[in-house]
Amino acid sequence: MQQNPIIDFDVIDKDGPQEYSGTVTIASKDLDRDELANVAPVEISVRAEKGNLPGEYIVEGKSSFTGELHCARCVDPYPFANSSEFHVRFRPRPQGSGDENEEVEITNEEELDVEYYSERAVPLKDLALEQVQLAIPMKPLCDEKCLGLCPACGANRNRESCKCESPVSDERWGALKGIREELAKKRES
Ligand SMILES: [Zn+2]
Ligand SMILES: [Zn+2]
Repeated sequence: MQQNPIIDFDVIDKDGPQEYSGTVTIASKDLDRDELANVAPVEISVRAEKGNLPGEYIVEGKSSFTGELHCARCVDPYPFANSSEFHVRFRPRPQGSGDENEEVEITNEEELDVEYYSERAVPLKDLALEQVQLAIPMKPLCDEKCLGLCPACGANRNRESCKCESPVSDERWGALKGIREELAKKRES
């Protein structure tokens, strides 16, 4: 098994559909996501073949990996695992007349899996990075019920209860309770 296989469109043109697989090592710094504490090597396998359009190639594959994310509330790293299947259509990058940033228009939802290439070779690592990127949630939580850090002393409330518990929330609930009771009385009368 190759260390970091590269999908070569020229080989597909010459020999037909190709299969590639490998274990791709990526560093968390390859992705600009602070949420990612670390990630183990990504298992990835793909099948690549020509698409219907000139210069189009279709890549279908699956990937799986494990890693650790930083919780958005308590900042502790916690383990996560992901396996996903993906489908990408590579098309030649349209040649612009000038060098201004030409917007590539996405006309319908079917085009969402389209990526434009300028080189006829795609490292498996690029696809692996993309899958890890997609798997990281916007707001990772170690637990839905994570209590987070105390804003006053920074204690992790999942592990310790500090002494700076503020009574504010209790008062609010008390006020709300009073309003509810009054509403109930009005309804009764
Ligand atoms: Zn947490
Ligand atoms: Zn505290």
